[in-house]
Amino acid sequence: MSDRRLLMIPGPIELEPDVLQAMGARTRSHMDPAFADVFGRALGRLRDVFLADAEAQPFVVAGSGTLAMDMAIANLVDRGAAALVVDTGYFSARMADVLERWGARVVRVSAPVGDAPSAEAVAAALSKEPFALVAVTHVDTSTGVRADVEGIARVARERGVLVVVDGVCSIGGEVFRQKAWGVDVALTASQKALGVPPGLALVVAGPRALEAARARRSKCASVYLDWAEWLPVMRSYEARKPVYFATPPVNLVAALDVSLAQIAGEGMEARFARHARMGGAFRAAWRALELRPLPVREELAANTLSALYYPPGVDASLVARVAAEGVVVAGGLHPEVRATYFRVGHMGACGPNDVLATVGAIERAMGTSAHGRGVAAASQALA
Ligand code: PMP
Repeated sequence: MSDRRLLMIPGPIELEPDVLQAMGARTRSHMDPAFADVFGRALGRLRDVFLADAEAQPFVVAGSGTLAMDMAIANLVDRGAAALVVDTGYFSARMADVLERWGARVVRVSAPVGDAPSAEAVAAALSKEPFALVAVTHVDTSTGVRADVEGIARVARERGVLVVVDGVCSIGGEVFRQKAWGVDVALTASQKALGVPPGLALVVAGPRALEAARARRSKCASVYLDWAEWLPVMRSYEARKPVYFATPPVNLVAALDVSLAQIAGEGMEARFARHARMGGAFRAAWRALELRPLPVREELAANTLSALYYPPGVDASLVARVAAEGVVVAGGLHPEVRATYFRVGHMGACGPNDVLATVGAIERAMGTSAHGRGVAAASQALA
């Protein structure tokens, strides 16, 4: 029998059939005018999904979210520049590592596991010394905590500090408005809420970020990451003229174009609302099953994933038992609490069927007298 387990980890995710079909189509030349059409359209649609400025520049290259982080920082940071990292967990620590490797001096504003620094805490940190940029992880996939990007971007903008948002676990699912919030660089990866297989790094740079990259003292030390190399390429494809710098992942770009068309068809506000509805239904189930979330307050809980402590008497073997019940979930990731919790992804095309199937599998795997309580609560929340 084929593996029909539902993939409910925080990326990669379950994909729409039309997206997968685009992956399997004949590979075209990257210089084919038909591919230029596809790539150009996808770049334009990306701006719409990020709710970005018309002047903002999307960059789509082969890579993963980590490469997108590298690309953002490699283009913005001169050696010795001060960067403030809003520390919410594992992926903020990665951002700090990326910044340090590109020569930045990193200052952290931190919160305990399950919490996020407030905009006020960020403002206080920013007032202590001049910073070139502030980096924030919108949803830290290691904890399921969503940071107040809107508030943090506001206090950074008031001080003329560039704002870089790791939206890998948020963009396309959580409310995110690059232009309205004044976010200078936003980045994600294809395998998350954009609903495409792994393999694409996606970065959208606003006008101030592009200007900062142009005004740098030193040349970007990586050829592949250099916006100066990619800018004419992206602009040319958007003008439907193929041009070569480094071979684009043709099939992945075609799949991206299909998924972005589906996202445009749903509409961003409806997509945000659907993610909030599914996230709310999962949270109702967790309450009914007495599964304690890592986020310490409800308003910090992401709509794109849940991170839940194992209940007393249950350990990490739960993940395999849930898989045996037909749903793939993920173990813990944050180094301080890794063995004590598990994670459930609910982004992309996730709908009511996925919620009920996932909660049901977790209930059965828990093997408690809770049977049916989580499904009933989720079902009621969805009704
Ligand atoms: N940032 C966040 C918030 C993520 O969730 C991830 C991936 N889970 C990354 C960065 C890194 O992305 P990738 O694994 O695609 O390199």
